[in-house]
Amino acid sequence: MPQASPKVGFVSLGCPKALVDSERVLTQLRAEGYAVAPSYEDADLVVVNTCGFIDDAIRESLEAIGEALAENGRVIVTGCLGAKGDIVKKTHPRVLAVTGPHATEAVMRAVHEHLPQPHDPFTSLIPPQGIKLTPRHYAYLKIAEGCNHRCTFCIIPSLRGDLASRPIGELMQEAENLVTAGVKELLVISQDTSAYGVDVKYRTGFWRGRPLKTRMTDLARALGELGVWVRLHYVYPYPHVDEVVPLMAEGKLLPYLDVPFQHASRRILKLMKRPASAEDNLARIRNWREICSGITIRSTFIVGFPGESGAEFEELLAFLEEAELDRVGCFAYSPVEGAAANALPGHVPEELKQERRARFMKLQEKISARRLKRRVGKTLTVLVDEVNADGAIARSSADAPEIDGTVGISPSPRLKAGEFATVRVTRADAHDLWADVVSR
Ligand code: SF4
Repeated sequence: MPQASPKVGFVSLGCPKALVDSERVLTQLRAEGYAVAPSYEDADLVVVNTCGFIDDAIRESLEAIGEALAENGRVIVTGCLGAKGDIVKKTHPRVLAVTGPHATEAVMRAVHEHLPQPHDPFTSLIPPQGIKLTPRHYAYLKIAEGCNHRCTFCIIPSLRGDLASRPIGELMQEAENLVTAGVKELLVISQDTSAYGVDVKYRTGFWRGRPLKTRMTDLARALGELGVWVRLHYVYPYPHVDEVVPLMAEGKLLPYLDVPFQHASRRILKLMKRPASAEDNLARIRNWREICSGITIRSTFIVGFPGESGAEFEELLAFLEEAELDRVGCFAYSPVEGAAANALPGHVPEELKQERRARFMKLQEKISARRLKRRVGKTLTVLVDEVNADGAIARSSADAPEIDGTVGISPSPRLKAGEFATVRVTRADAHDLWADVVSR
């Protein structure tokens, strides 16, 4: 009789990149014959993957570790918070081990030490796509780790190091395995997707026996051959980004670009040390829309950055009005411990930051409502995420999971999660659409 597998509990916090780290560790655990426990009490040991990006995330991570210690007692910590000095050990001296982010091997070493491997790895059969934490029909494809930029409000490079691109052949194999296993949408992520391959000088790799350069455009083109939705996140407005927009117009990639502009004032962008800060972003946007008229542009912005004057904030609002972006997130600047921007003069008072954020969001809500209204009466292809008693929740090419809006669909007996459907839009508000099914 094979002996019962040791069970590892897993708590995964943080961004999509941390989620990919969690999936790697879970895949490895299963590959080695460990079982994944559904609760603290069923687990022989718990791994907590933490986030250390902003103060709230640090608090949440420390609380999660505290809870795992109280409920289970045997805890290994990994993720970004683990790379932030000895904060974890100081707060929770009882944790068994601490590693930084993307450290599958170090986590596995700690697991081997504190919960030795089963001798009879009957359970070592894993599905070829690994263990996914996202619904089966979409998956994140992390193409690189780290970042070569040094944006002054960000500490990710000090947590995760410089850019390290994954080999293109390996990535394409992973993407193909995911598609074979039923994934219908691939979400390409990294800290700076447009920089993919810079660190390896665009080295040539191989997929299906043919050469491919380690470059965003080549990767996007190859992913476009897999016949599923491919969505690009965290792309900077460098000139070569224009090369992927025609692929969107041809239907090879989703017509969707997630470009974190962060601000519109040249001076503030320079103070932020943003990549491609000298580009004329309005001209870029106009050009992308000329090449691919249905493109959805998503972005994020920071208001109240140190030194931001009233006039610079107005410049940002004017940009927003002119650019008419589809999806926008906005943060009031918050000084992250260790970020270079903290030393800049002219910190904006908290109340003013919040006031600017509220004004910004109000304007964007108006723009977004205006843009979504234009879709009423149109026919769209959607991917169904969930079917419930009220109908279904789906997404169109304009909606990335978790961060954008949804398409609510009236009840239809034929709908299934993970399938595509054609719908006609009946109603819109500032974020979401509602629609009736035309066909599946
Ligand atoms: S591009 Fe800037 S904000 Fe993004 S990870 Fe790199 S340093 Fe941070």
